[in-house]
Amino acid sequence: MLDYDLVKTVKIECKFCGRETDKISGICDYCEPFLCEVCRSKLSKGYCAVCGRLVCDDDSKLVGFARVCVECLQSDPRLNDYDYLQSIIFNKATRIAYRTKQRFNEILEIGAPPRSEHIYVHIGLDDFDSPYGLCTTYAAAHILRMIKETFEAELLDYPLLIRLNPNIPLKTRGNAGVAIRIIIEKDSFSDLLESILRQVEDLSHAFFRKTQPALAIYATEKYAIDSIINIVYKEALRSVITPKILLRKLRNLKTGHLLVFSPMSTIPRGIVGAVASIGAILDDYTFELLAYRLERNIGRKRQINEASVLKMNKKMFPLTFGNVDGQKILIAPKGPDPVLLGIRGETPEAVFEAFRMIEHEEIEFWCIFRSNQATSAHIRSIRHVEDAHPYETIMINCEVISARKEDDRVFLRAHANGGYVEGVAYRLQRGLQSKILKLKPGDIIKLVIAVFSKTKDTIAGNIEEFIPIQLVPEIIKRNPRCPRCCARLKKKSKDMLYCKKCGLRIKGDFKIILRIPRHELRIGKRYLASPRAHRHLTMPNERIYFRSLKITGKVSAYLVDPVLAKEKNLPLKRIREIKEPKIL
Ligand SMILES: [Zn+2]
Ligand SMILES: [Zn+2]
Ligand SMILES: [Zn+2]
Ligand SMILES: [Zn+2]
Repeated sequence: MLDYDLVKTVKIECKFCGRETDKISGICDYCEPFLCEVCRSKLSKGYCAVCGRLVCDDDSKLVGFARVCVECLQSDPRLNDYDYLQSIIFNKATRIAYRTKQRFNEILEIGAPPRSEHIYVHIGLDDFDSPYGLCTTYAAAHILRMIKETFEAELLDYPLLIRLNPNIPLKTRGNAGVAIRIIIEKDSFSDLLESILRQVEDLSHAFFRKTQPALAIYATEKYAIDSIINIVYKEALRSVITPKILLRKLRNLKTGHLLVFSPMSTIPRGIVGAVASIGAILDDYTFELLAYRLERNIGRKRQINEASVLKMNKKMFPLTFGNVDGQKILIAPKGPDPVLLGIRGETPEAVFEAFRMIEHEEIEFWCIFRSNQATSAHIRSIRHVEDAHPYETIMINCEVISARKEDDRVFLRAHANGGYVEGVAYRLQRGLQSKILKLKPGDIIKLVIAVFSKTKDTIAGNIEEFIPIQLVPEIIKRNPRCPRCCARLKKKSKDMLYCKKCGLRIKGDFKIILRIPRHELRIGKRYLASPRAHRHLTMPNERIYFRSLKITGKVSAYLVDPVLAKEKNLPLKRIREIKEPKIL
């Protein structure tokens, strides 16, 4: 007879990540939700833009920027063509997507309502978009506009555009959560809640399998958040949290009143980003001004004067950054979503001034967000290969074994504490590729890598950046010069050198060894790809100075008025210094 207690206490290592698990399948709670839905035997890399299922690399193909699963490709081979795929996406986007209404129901309540006269309300949203359009920031901006127009609420911060772990397969389109922080009279709370729910009902794309929107409302008596919620943010940013793990953590919530709403009957994936966004405390931050399109233009080609963007960049850089890569304009997304353009920068004034310089089509409105974008907050520093897990972006010291190019990819193999690291850089990361190829065996580097798989002693992933710590000198061996006429000696035979110029012969085989410092790489410098290959969270080098000012508190964040408007020709007024909520 089986001893069930014994079976239950036997822990094994998850075959994908090495975390302990008691599951018979050998797949832990962190990895299980990310299994490929076609083969069920590998971790997924993204979702199919047509059917919405999570799929691994082997069971899907990248068509342009979108991923399509093998089964969808089999049933309609025309999907191999990016233009055809795009036409399908745009068609669906303009025909059905904007006309689906979803009722949001309460799916979770923890804690009791605050009893103070005024209450702090934190509103978190995630996963409102699909390949067929919409955007979580758009839903949030609509909520903010509604609050400004109908309630006597005080805005405590910009809406926060919170990027979470970029390697999670559900985040293919750079999905982000948003949080809004306001203070309101207790008596208005239920009206506020009703109005927000009415707003979100037609602003989500829950008809798409991957899209599982959630709205979290967290009310507190003080301007504070429970430490659990802050931990959720940090883990959703740097590692993996699934809805199941989140619910387990939330059981320990001690402060505040948390409500979660969703059109799903099960716990939606969006709950993680919605709660995590509320929990974001930003020591370093940037701003992004997003301008939204008129509904009738969505799905059409974006009208932006590229010359005006280049001119703006020339004037505003580095106060704005990541907006241009060479002559390539990066401010406009490609899909049928409502965002016309987004401008990133260090201050609200800078992004607004930049926006005013750009010529573009008529817009619905613009909104300034404060963000963790471009702060490299997603990177976890680890000492040991064993501490890495799939989907995490880690920084680890290692010693280069080899760097080589194969087709259009560059591979780096390195030795790290406790095992090996195998990194790859893709064609889009060209600038980084050429620097990796300059690395030599024995070089010590800090490597930043997005881990996609882990075996016993090896982690493999996509290289994001590296910093040389110690470079072995280049060794060149040359023949000595002739002691009589100074010409370079030639080798005559196995143990004889001779001078071609004056005829001197010298017995023996001497070599001069030159140790040349490596000029092609600099110790301590960050090498990363050019902006077009950056993750939203990647900090560009031009930010290093501003980052230090912000982290040390030498500059503070100010809230300006307005944060959201339609007109471009108005002054921004600083109205208050922004304070992060306390962590309780
Ligand atoms: Zn696992
Ligand atoms: Zn698969
Ligand atoms: Zn599919
Ligand atoms: Zn000579």
